[in-house]
Formats: sequence, structure tokens, C-alpha cells
Amino acid sequence: MDRKIEKVLGYNVDLLSFDDAIDIVSENMRNFKGMHIVTINPEIIELANNNTFFSQIIKNADMVIPDGSGIKLALSLRGIEQEQIPGIDFAKELLKVCADFHYRVALVGAKEKVIQTAVDRINAEFDDIDICYFHNGYFTKDKEEEIVKQVADSNPRFVLVALGAPKQDFFIKKCKEYMPRTVFIGVGGSFDVWAGEVDRAPEFFRTMGCEWIYRTYKQPERIKRIYKTLPAFLFKVIIEALKKKGKK
Ligand code: UDP
Repeated sequence: MDRKIEKVLGYNVDLLSFDDAIDIVSENMRNFKGMHIVTINPEIIELANNNTFFSQIIKNADMVIPDGSGIKLALSLRGIEQEQIPGIDFAKELLKVCADFHYRVALVGAKEKVIQTAVDRINAEFDDIDICYFHNGYFTKDKEEEIVKQVADSNPRFVLVALGAPKQDFFIKKCKEYMPRTVFIGVGGSFDVWAGEVDRAPEFFRTMGCEWIYRTYKQPERIKRIYKTLPAFLFKVIIEALKKKGKK
């Protein structure tokens, strides 16, 4: 099936509902069709603009879901109503698919205590989940190859990588050389949330698309990241939307 894509500041965003995106990934898992799923937000775009290698990886991703409310806003400025798909919810739903179909799952990332607790909680939530491998995300560059091989040896159908961007996407790129038939997703700080180390924003913030405000309040060190990216992002997407309007 052809992808329905809109470019935001030069980066693909798939125009899909949550359910359709889950169906596509499930079908690919069933058929051993490997994928790299990116959950895009303004911060990732900013990082990619400053790193050609990362930019190429994002541009070549097989599915790019609009995780950030900034992306939803950029699309709505051009009259495209796209639902925001939080990567953490998307990844959780894919874990359910894996449990239902007995697909093997591997997880890499976060601190040792966090990943252990996250795995315990996933096992408790999904009776039939088969977690074939997990490893914390604090390893040296020279250990990376060994971990990639360990992941490959565990033969997973689905791998969640929580190292933050762009590290997680570099790791996924390396993994794909060994596991072309596996589905990968970079999930940022999701393991911290699943382990109960970091609170998820209350429903109100989530439905308003303002989860980032709550996360910044809880982790004030994030303010630097937002301050550096959001104003410039907003400015650029408004200009882009105006240019598009001018061409019509
Ligand atoms: N992390 C890791 N190894 C590293 C750097 C980060 O495993 O070398 C983990 C970190 O512990 C956290 C996640 O990567 O669990 C990054 O979370 P962050 O909140 O920065 O990601 P976001 O959700 O903003 O993309």
C-alpha cells in the first residue's frame, strides 16, 4: 500500500489514524517485513537539521508517526487534520499485538533498574508476552556491536529502543543490518514511564496535546531543549504553511 505522506520542514510524516498505523505494523510483523518506526516531534527535526546522518535515517524511516503536538499543529496550519499519535501509546499497543500473536520482543535502553522494572510490569500486564531479550541503555560504543548481535541472536519480531534521539535511531540502523525482517521503534523515555520512574501526564494534558508542558514541569531540565527548538519550529512551520497557501 502506498504511504500517504506530508512533508513538515522537509521530513516525512505519515498521515494515518492510530488504528490504521497499528494494522499496517501488525501486518508487516506477520509477514516478517522489517520496519524502522520514528515518532517525530520538533526536537527530532531540529536534531536532524544539525546532523546529516540522522537526517538520512529519519528520511528513510518506513513509518513516521506524529508524536508531538507541534507536528499536529504544523499539519493543521495547512488544513490537514491529523490525530496525534503518542509513541508511548503506540508502542504499548504493539506490545499487545506481540502478546496476542506470540511474537518475540526485545527491549534495549534506560537504566538497569528501570529496564528490569519495565520488563516486570510488561510481563505482568500481558500474560502471553515473550520478552526474549533486554539490556540497559548504558553501554560503551565498543560494546554496541556485541549487544546488537545478542539482540539478533534472540530472534525478536519487535524491538523497542529507548536511548533517546538520535542515539536510538543510530542503534536501530546498526540492528537492521543484522535483522532486516524485524520491526523497530525508538521510544525515548517510555521505559521510565512504564517503570513508574516518571509520571505520565494526566489525561487533561494529553487530550489537549500539551503533554510536553507537564513533562517540562516535572523535568525542568527539559526547558533548555524546548526553548531551543519550539519558537524556531513554530516560526518555520507558519512560513511553510503561508508559502503553501500562496502557491494554491
Ligand atoms: N538513555 C539510555 N542511554 C543513554 C542515554 C539515554 O538508555 O546513553 C535513556 C534514558 O535513561 C531515558 C531515555 O534514554 O530512559 C531517553 O529519554 P528522554 O526522556 O530523553 O527521551 P524523549 O522521551 O524525550 O525522547
